[in-house]
Amino acid sequence: MIRRAVAGETENRREGGASRRQLTWYLFFRVLFIILFLTGTIIYQLHSGLDRPHPALPYLYLLAGLSCLHALMSAIMLRAVRGLRVFTQAQIAWDLLFATGLIYVTGGIDSLFSLLYLIIIISGGIFMTRREVFFAASASSILYGSLLDLQYYGYLPQLGGLAFPQQVSESDVFYAVFVNVLGFFFTALLTGMLVDRLRRSEQALERRTVDFGELEELNRTILASIGSGLMIVNPRGRVRSFNAAASRITGYTLQEVYDRKVRELFPGMGVYDGGLLPVSRAEVRVKDKHGGLRTLGYAASMVKDPQEQNLGLLVTFQDLTHLKAMEGQLKRADRLAAVGQLASGMAHEIRNPLASISGSVQLLMEDRNVSEENRRLMEIVVREADRLGNLLTDFLVYARPNPPELVEEDVSALLDDLVEMVNADARFTFVDFSREYAPGGRMPVDRRLFRQALLNLLINAAEAMGGRGKVLLGLDPDAGAVYVEDTGPGIPAEIREKIFDPFFTTKDRGTGLGLATVYAVIEAMGGSVELSEGSAGGARFTLQIPRGES
Ligand code: ADP
Repeated sequence: MIRRAVAGETENRREGGASRRQLTWYLFFRVLFIILFLTGTIIYQLHSGLDRPHPALPYLYLLAGLSCLHALMSAIMLRAVRGLRVFTQAQIAWDLLFATGLIYVTGGIDSLFSLLYLIIIISGGIFMTRREVFFAASASSILYGSLLDLQYYGYLPQLGGLAFPQQVSESDVFYAVFVNVLGFFFTALLTGMLVDRLRRSEQALERRTVDFGELEELNRTILASIGSGLMIVNPRGRVRSFNAAASRITGYTLQEVYDRKVRELFPGMGVYDGGLLPVSRAEVRVKDKHGGLRTLGYAASMVKDPQEQNLGLLVTFQDLTHLKAMEGQLKRADRLAAVGQLASGMAHEIRNPLASISGSVQLLMEDRNVSEENRRLMEIVVREADRLGNLLTDFLVYARPNPPELVEEDVSALLDDLVEMVNADARFTFVDFSREYAPGGRMPVDRRLFRQALLNLLINAAEAMGGRGKVLLGLDPDAGAVYVEDTGPGIPAEIREKIFDPFFTTKDRGTGLGLATVYAVIEAMGGSVELSEGSAGGARFTLQIPRGES
């Protein structure tokens, strides 16, 4: 019911109708008018020095009382009434009747109160449509004209005690009616025009307000959803606005940065040095909220109002940290590739003369006349030359692994071969092998490189165990995994990070290239190497090779 009443009211307002509040005020002013009118009348009466009250007074009181009562009832009804339009029309109609009554008791043509019609017409204009105002003007004319006509023809009933001027001339009546009716219609016309104008500007204002609301909402959404960080710095160098992306990049919320000095917040960002500085493009390293260093790429431009006054500086920025890190990595990788190429070229060049040196010394050693002392020295030369040769071979495999040719191989057979081969090696004399795999397991590998990687792991295992212990070999072709586990001391936590680095070794005569080579060749095959602890506390290296397309 209430909702329907409200809906009806909105409808009524849109057509220029009155709201409940306006009508309440209208009723209030009506009562106020009557009170003032009565007070004025009483004062006039007291001051006019008449010995007995004017005979019209009781009628005035009656009319005033009736009107107050009407206003009171209307105020009560206003809460419940649904059709405000009819209610308004009824109020205006009542007022016209009241005014006519007042004119009637105050002497008809002699009454001053015909101007009440004007007031009613004007107030009608506030609540009613233009047409209704003209109706009110017409009604006023008819009522006033009829009253005067009745008076003129002497048909007006005489109220007790009232003496109307009975002899009114035709021209007086005509003139009074003419002037008043003209006044009524002109007032209606002017009121209608003014009210129309008022309503039009009200509507225009409402439309503009709605547009501003929409615009503001749109702006907010754009600011929030834009991917770049946006910050507004006021002419005193303090942060005034900070969008969601800016918070995401720097970790600060708007509340945390609001009104802070940009120079303190992001030192190095050259946007303020006592005055705002536009920047076309620059980079800066700043600390985020959590103390992390971030590289920001930023640009700043002035925000001006239509009068070209500086409102502040709009700073847009992107997080380039990740990009910079990648750029750095690429540069390093490039440099390493160049160094690797150079080093492997040199290694190649050294290997050949080294082989000649070793060969020549071996020839010299065959001479029977060589003293024992010299022979021992020559043996050192040959041994060290061999060691150097092996180092160079290892280095070349690490630095320049040939592009792998992945072929579906029987890896279990490859492991069998390998075990057979190392069993003949003196370093593996006291090493037991436990083969934890079924025959026939196939995986896509580069046979030569894979064999090299496994061999390096086996040699490391034997060395870690001091040549005595057990090596477990496992294969899971479905998971693409091969592991080598030993019963040695395992790898201490503090060096686990470094063991794959080239030239990292804990052995006196180690090269530090074994695991680095394993890592390089497995990575070249698209796989990975994992280190874990074996069941007996030794090291377990798992080579993970991705399954081929098939
Ligand atoms: P190198 O064998 O020449 O020292 P590697 O790169 O093969 O070089 O190994 C690096 C280091 O990793 C070794 O010096 C050793 O300390 C450690 N390591 C490698 N394999 C094992 C293993 N199975 N058990 C214990 N430590 C190992």
